[in-house]
Amino acid sequence: MDINRRIKSLVGSSTLAITARAKELCAQGQDVVSFAGGEPDFDTPPEIKQAAIRAIEDGYTKYTPSVGSLELRQLISKKFARENNLAYTPEQIVVSCGAKHSLYNVIQVLADDGDEVLIPSPYWVSYPEMVKVSGATSRFIPTTAESHFKINAAMLKQHITKQTKILILNSPSNPTGMVYSLEELRPIAELCVKNRIWIISDEIYEKLIYESSTCPSIAALGPEAYAKTITVNGFSKAFSMTGWRVGYCAGPQEIMDYVKKFQDHSTSNPSSISQKAALQALSSSEESILAMREEFKQRRDLLMSLMDKIPGITYIKPEGAFYLFCDFSALGDSQDVARRILNDVNVALIPGDGFGAPGFMRLSFSTSKERIQEGVKRLAGWIAKNR
Ligand code: PMP
Ligand code: GLU
Repeated sequence: MDINRRIKSLVGSSTLAITARAKELCAQGQDVVSFAGGEPDFDTPPEIKQAAIRAIEDGYTKYTPSVGSLELRQLISKKFARENNLAYTPEQIVVSCGAKHSLYNVIQVLADDGDEVLIPSPYWVSYPEMVKVSGATSRFIPTTAESHFKINAAMLKQHITKQTKILILNSPSNPTGMVYSLEELRPIAELCVKNRIWIISDEIYEKLIYESSTCPSIAALGPEAYAKTITVNGFSKAFSMTGWRVGYCAGPQEIMDYVKKFQDHSTSNPSSISQKAALQALSSSEESILAMREEFKQRRDLLMSLMDKIPGITYIKPEGAFYLFCDFSALGDSQDVARRILNDVNVALIPGDGFGAPGFMRLSFSTSKERIQEGVKRLAGWIAKNR
């Protein structure tokens, strides 16, 4: 068929497909343990829901400015100053329909035919596909468990060419759970500044960290890093608001003016009701975030202790996000293994292939401790039989 060639080249999202399949099986009455979930399994805190209900009742049901209401951008600006040591004015902020939308906008604005976009691998499934739509090419920087799935300046340098335009950084990382320290970010930022490479910093999991209390933002390293970075964040993971679809990005004014124009002609504003909910999220105490973080930490520790008992499966302890990224290569082709495990013992895992890491499996611990126990029991049984 006569479809746009860039769109034709897109690969479906494995995270969305497998999560949907697991939900479908559950709906059919099957007892599936899903380690596929890419969203917190907690409900949105009640005061946030109430704010949305109030918005509807008060008739806050019309278009807002395309880039999001001024009051929400003012609060996001304060959040950046308070929590990330970043000075972004409300005019430098564009609120979109999820961080995914923010990333899509920024990539389309910056990347062009012939450009190269550097993506450390393993990576979140959607980055290369967004790059394809822009006409640019993804150039992957492979990392291994030995380097804790992180890049350093030397690895980055090896992959820079005349065409390099952007580096996409994601810390805490989906799928590996790795978190970059400020010391690790500094030489990366310096090299990007020196080579005039834009940095897109995806910080969507910043609140879900387990070994420290804050997660550094690369743009906060100094004025030069700030001038080359677009910081992306959102409400989905921190406030368990995945369905509300609110994310945002901020960066140099000139870039943000183009992001605004692009959004003006595509989606316009994210839902006015969700924006009121987001406003409430930023005004609330951090109590629910801290409770969620503590529960995730306990689940992570439980999942690690159970996986430790399965011979031949290895992983690096995740410091953030809610994924355990395990090396299953001893068992064969990971897509095939994931399919068989789902068929045989009703356990859903996401194979590493979509993250650029065949042989690995992503296990989300966004499910209860009881389900984690049950799921790993089934997994261990399956692996013992099929090794
Ligand atoms: N970045 C990463 C690394 C993610 O895992 C996700 C998945 N939800 C997103 C961005 C997008 O999140 P949302 O669009 O729900 O804000
Ligand atoms: N980001 C989540 C995940 O990686 C949600 C699904 C998606 O949007 O890809 O599973």
